[in-house]
Amino acid sequence: MAEVGIDGSVEVGIAGCMDPRTFEARRKRMEQLRKIYGKNVVFFAFSNGGGNVKGFRRSLMQVIDAKEANVAAIYAMQHEDCAAMKIVKEAIDNRKNPGKEVMDTLVSQFYEADLSDVDKTNSRKQIEELQTLTRGRSIDVEAAYISKADMTERVHEHSAVMILDPFYIDYSGIADKLKVDLGGMYVLQTFRNPEDFIPDLGILRSLDFKKVTVVELDGNKEMYDKAAKLVENAGMKAESMRMELPQKTQNHHKKSRI
Ligand SMILES: [Zn+2]
Repeated sequence: MAEVGIDGSVEVGIAGCMDPRTFEARRKRMEQLRKIYGKNVVFFAFSNGGGNVKGFRRSLMQVIDAKEANVAAIYAMQHEDCAAMKIVKEAIDNRKNPGKEVMDTLVSQFYEADLSDVDKTNSRKQIEELQTLTRGRSIDVEAAYISKADMTERVHEHSAVMILDPFYIDYSGIADKLKVDLGGMYVLQTFRNPEDFIPDLGILRSLDFKKVTVVELDGNKEMYDKAAKLVENAGMKAESMRMELPQKTQNHHKKSRI
């Protein structure tokens, strides 16, 4: 386990799927982790279709490599009944082409893999990917596979948001402001690199999403304009919503930018 940082905090990462049915299990796991790592633990989250580490690799390394970063562990939270993995299976078993970006970033990892339980295979793949990325560092990589029994029910109304700060984990605040059901709110989350989501926007489009809300947390207009453009290029409507960063998040936000 990493040593406690100068401000007394340790960071624990979550690399999970954008599927909102997994967020309650994620929240419960974070409560358990708070007991293990202490009250100064700061969580950061990356999420996309399938919790695909390859997609957010660059952003993840920016956070890990940041000056004063003190990452103790990363939890790979993939889950049963994953829509992204259904796309993978269809692409390989039935040669259904989900588009070049999804093929290159997601499907290509599974050409040689055993697809009899594609979700478990995905979980293993993402752990391997995280282990490769963190090799030589004192960062634990742990699996936290979420089975159907631990997932919340699928809700009728779906929405999708893009968050470009991994330290912003108050999804309920966003759902309240958007007036949407948190249980149906898909979350794409990375670190200031909206182009990392090009394949995931393709997945959202294929799941019949019509709109993605870009959550604006600071004044980086260029980055948010780019995010909106990518949503529109993927054939969906982009909306933006301004949110305030909580104080605790602000410190880590600044730290990770250095
Ligand atoms: Zn999923």
